[in-house]
Amino acid sequence: MPEGHTIHRLARDQRADLVGRPVEAVAGQERFRSGAERLHGQVLRKAEAWGKHLFHTYDSGDVLHVHLGLIGKWLRRTDDPRPEPISTTRLRLAGDDAAWDLTGPMVCSVVSPDEKAAVVAKLGPDPLRRDGDPERMWAKVHRSSKSIGLLVMEQDVVAGIGNVYRSELLNIVGVDPRRPGTAVTREEFDALWAETVRQLRLGVRRGKIVTMGQDELGRPISKLRRGEGRYAYKQEVCGRCHTVLDVYPIAGRTTWSCPVCQPR
Ligand SMILES: [Zn+2]
Repeated sequence: MPEGHTIHRLARDQRADLVGRPVEAVAGQERFRSGAERLHGQVLRKAEAWGKHLFHTYDSGDVLHVHLGLIGKWLRRTDDPRPEPISTTRLRLAGDDAAWDLTGPMVCSVVSPDEKAAVVAKLGPDPLRRDGDPERMWAKVHRSSKSIGLLVMEQDVVAGIGNVYRSELLNIVGVDPRRPGTAVTREEFDALWAETVRQLRLGVRRGKIVTMGQDELGRPISKLRRGEGRYAYKQEVCGRCHTVLDVYPIAGRTTWSCPVCQPR
């Protein structure tokens, strides 16, 4: 599943292609035909991400709400002439020079500003947003007996972290994922928030999850194989101290942690 940095990057790229002009909206699938007709010809005012949710706001006030879920994808296309959308295209949004084809989303609907607000109200702070408030996350974490490895994945605690960043962030700040929220100190939490902001921003810029610094990589990011450049996620040994990692599930998703860097 895409993590928050992917959705923020999509919002940024779609903003550049589509904002400020009427969009051509067309659906390849019957199920979203009326939604596409409603958006067609409207001027896109804003494209933004909140965690894993993407919102487009149009001049009438209509909001397009998309959550990619496990298999959803946006494909940017610049082919000319552009072929017609196919039967798996839920929605195509086209501007002057580029079009975006959406396939397989978990959520794709046209909602009102109030309905958008209701979705956002259920989400925790998003570390990539300027309005992301760490105090809201801390308020939930430090009172919870759930493990920190579980809490960082709960979208109402903090929005945008998925399984890859969970293992990476907790390794970098040296906190065992099985530690209860109540046992995470304020200093550790502050380090976790700061590192989350830093890493997610890096993810938006790099377009992939490579958490190691340039000095540790030894070669350009474009030359890395898939999954390289990480400290813990799907690694055998810790990228910081080379100790063999512990591997176990938290809430059904596999987690990696270092017994030395992240003592219990
Ligand atoms: Zn280690």
